[in-house]
Amino acid sequence: HAEKETLGFQAEVKQLLQLMIHSLYSNKEIFLRELISNASDASDKLRFEAINNDALYGNDHELKIKVAFDAAAKTITISDNGIGMNRDEVISHLGTIAKSGTKEFFSKLSGDQQQDAALIGQFGVGFYSGFIVASKITVETRRAGADAAEGVRWESAGEGDYSIEQIEKAGRGTDVILHLRDGEEELLSAWKLKSIIRKYSDHISLPIVMQKEEWDEEKKETVLKDDVETVNQASALWARSKNDITEEQYNEFYKHVSHDFQEPLTYTHNRVEGRSEYTQLLYVPAHAPFDLWDRNKRGGIKLYVKRVFIMDDAEQLMPTYLRFIKGVIDSSDLPLNVSREILQESRDVRVIREGSTKRVLGMLEEMANSDEQAGKDKYATFWKEFGQVLKEGVGEDATNKDRIAKLLRFASTANDSDAQTVSFADYIGRMKEGQDKIYYVTADNYNAGKNSPHLEIFRKKGVEVILMTDRVDEWMLSFFTEFEGKELVSVAKGGLDLGALEDETEKKEHAETEAGYKELVESMKGALGEKAKEVRVTFRLTDSPACLVADDNELSGNLLRMLKAAGQ
Ligand code: ADP
Ligand code: MG
Repeated sequence: HAEKETLGFQAEVKQLLQLMIHSLYSNKEIFLRELISNASDASDKLRFEAINNDALYGNDHELKIKVAFDAAAKTITISDNGIGMNRDEVISHLGTIAKSGTKEFFSKLSGDQQQDAALIGQFGVGFYSGFIVASKITVETRRAGADAAEGVRWESAGEGDYSIEQIEKAGRGTDVILHLRDGEEELLSAWKLKSIIRKYSDHISLPIVMQKEEWDEEKKETVLKDDVETVNQASALWARSKNDITEEQYNEFYKHVSHDFQEPLTYTHNRVEGRSEYTQLLYVPAHAPFDLWDRNKRGGIKLYVKRVFIMDDAEQLMPTYLRFIKGVIDSSDLPLNVSREILQESRDVRVIREGSTKRVLGMLEEMANSDEQAGKDKYATFWKEFGQVLKEGVGEDATNKDRIAKLLRFASTANDSDAQTVSFADYIGRMKEGQDKIYYVTADNYNAGKNSPHLEIFRKKGVEVILMTDRVDEWMLSFFTEFEGKELVSVAKGGLDLGALEDETEKKEHAETEAGYKELVESMKGALGEKAKEVRVTFRLTDSPACLVADDNELSGNLLRMLKAAGQ
């Protein structure tokens, strides 16, 4: 493959490029954040691979990121001495989008630029954001450990295709050269670039360096000096003291670790000492990822050991039902050569997972119990995006079941809306005198639940019923029989004992009515034969003539339908 070749982009890349250039223009400075973020990831990867292969460093041990510009050539160059890429990696990383859910994402685009612009921000555009300001991008890269002759040059104008060729490259790592579009000249200034770096990339733990400038009295212009200066703080953000970190820095760090474009909803940052020593910086995103329901999806936690990056998506550090949490955990106890297999068995990891779970639940409780409207709105957003996942925790995490139960929100007959806003505590606070149970109905969707004939008697008596309409609800309910001593009862099951909600005269009337219909019931039983287990006179209906109910110990109608649909 020595000669230059031209290859086409994957269709989704073409679409992304077109859309992005137009829709993200007002936010164009983010290109630098994205390219520096990639350079930092590449350095993390090198450091990790080098744990077992120090030779990868060659004679260049000092990892750093360099930003330079050439005013005459109208270029900006972002260089790193990280892991680099070989030819195959260049083709797959810079010619396709590997993210899961890409196809689904693109099928959602409407062609309406404003609507799509909002979507694209959620998708994350990474490397391709360079094309917002560049009419052409050249990437020169060489994988750590490869010969100088095995460098690769990738070049594209961001339209349909790119070229790729083998080159000689002196050092390991990657140079990304942006050939600026006309009109972007204001970026060709040290002051401008430094201010963008400080704003968006200060949290990067490697030094980001730029060449120093000096005013030359004789030439009457600024000239570049030989030495460089570090523009950012260049220390791991999570290792700094909370008081030294601004809200903005926390948010930018989130975007770096999560590859998300939006701000997080909230975060928690702690240093834990004692049995196990670690630092955690954990975020709740403001929106669900495209692959939230993908079975192969791993978690969103980056594991570091004493500041050295070990792995992305360390799923052992968080229970599955909190797989949407993003962030960093830095352990002082784990060995540097820890593998996924070791993580699975490690006692230290179990301690970290338990501690982090408690922190995350605490963070959610804080949002949920906030007295301020902004806090309440945040929790509503959280619930809309991740509530169904959190429900998995009721079955998965016996230790924290009660805490999770308090975080659950439902639709109910108390509101005329499908919005899930009612907690068990709200429900209990509104219970009728004499009511000692929490009543619910399960259904395929809100309308079916709301119009269920089983609700008629409850409406008449003014008793609130929780409407459970998420797919996960039936499964969750099988782990869940009571909340704070109050039994959870399906209104669609068995003989429906309304207990003290029925008064004495009602009970007497019911007994008399039952006696009066004895003959009819017997003849219906005969007519239905095997088709019905039991025929009863009911008082739970006020308008409908009849309804089907499940036995107390049987699967509910809704769960039966679900199992049937799943082929069981
Ligand atoms: P993301 O960072 O979310 O994976 P990007 O579009 O930013 O997506 O980058 C795509 C991929 O290209 C990266 O995952 C990485 O494999 C590769 N890449 C980009 N920049 C570099 C770099 N400077 N060094 C090595 N690999 C890089
Ligand atoms: Mg990236």
